[in-house]
Amino acid sequence: MSTAEIIDGKAFAEGLRARIAEMAASFEQAAGRKAGLAVVLVGADPASEVYVRSKGKQTVACGMESFEYKLPADTSEADLLAMVEQLNADPAVDGILVQLPLPGHLDEQKIISTTNPDKDVDGFHVTNVGRLSTGLPGFVPCTPLGCIMLLRDRLGSLSGLEAVVIGRSNIVGKPMAQLLLAESCTVTIAHSRTKDLEGVVRRADIVVAAVGRPEMVKGSWIKPGATVIDVGINRIEGAEGKTKLVGDVDFASAASVAGAITPVPGGVGPMTIAVLLRNALVAAHRNAGVALDEASL
Ligand code: NDP
Repeated sequence: MSTAEIIDGKAFAEGLRARIAEMAASFEQAAGRKAGLAVVLVGADPASEVYVRSKGKQTVACGMESFEYKLPADTSEADLLAMVEQLNADPAVDGILVQLPLPGHLDEQKIISTTNPDKDVDGFHVTNVGRLSTGLPGFVPCTPLGCIMLLRDRLGSLSGLEAVVIGRSNIVGKPMAQLLLAESCTVTIAHSRTKDLEGVVRRADIVVAAVGRPEMVKGSWIKPGATVIDVGINRIEGAEGKTKLVGDVDFASAASVAGAITPVPGGVGPMTIAVLLRNALVAAHRNAGVALDEASL
């Protein structure tokens, strides 16, 4: 039986997009142009195509300009770098996102490093990683920032809470841990070499699972009343041979112990694009020198 409060990321993301739309309209009035987000897709990975289409639609729906570039899978690194440089120099473009993963012949780190850090709305540039870890204003990766927004909304102050992040990727785990530290949590980062993962998770008031292993975290690992944020998106075979999406947390058992939990789908997933739009709008204000109360977004 589920006793946990279900954290509705879909509804939260809708509210965030509504605030973004309002502020995008004020930005247009103040700056005399729309905020602009450029998304570059190399190749025809079906999942990436879906993401890019969805990003474009939501960008326009929020009253921002969407620039989409679809390049063939065999695009050379020199051509892709030239495109990034061109977007860096384009004053109509406030945010640049090169959809990952890139085809194997392209060096992702080189592409990210070439992006102007002040247009790096994914927050992957080493300058933004450094800014996050030193507490300077920059751009924070969208998924972990979305998780923090959900946590703040549910818990208010996170100060002093024990937080365990499972996963140490540059995209989710590490920035998530930095953000929790900035909220004054006591943070543990667990990974594939962690001994007694269950025991580590059991002491957490906040569990963030970003592993990529379907339903790995069981309800018996969760401290009663803890808040569980499930970042995982795993496609598994469900009933009658149909595939279904599940998280890294065994939702049924965890929901009977946790105080609150994000479902998959409908939890963290919808937050990612909404936060991307938020970052693009913040970039627009900073680039155009228009004031914005960033904390209100
Ligand atoms: P990565 O594969 O880059 O990282 C996975 C992490 O999990 C690694 O640090 C790895 O440890 C750790 N790990 C793997 N197996 C275990 C285990 N048995 N016990 C403990 N730790 C383990 O994945 P990402 O961070 O990119 O993504 C994680 C999940 O989040 C995926 O399901 C992905 O689809 C999802 N995701 C969802 C997003 C959203 O919008 N909701 C956005 C981004 C990702 P080690 O470092 O030791 O190998």
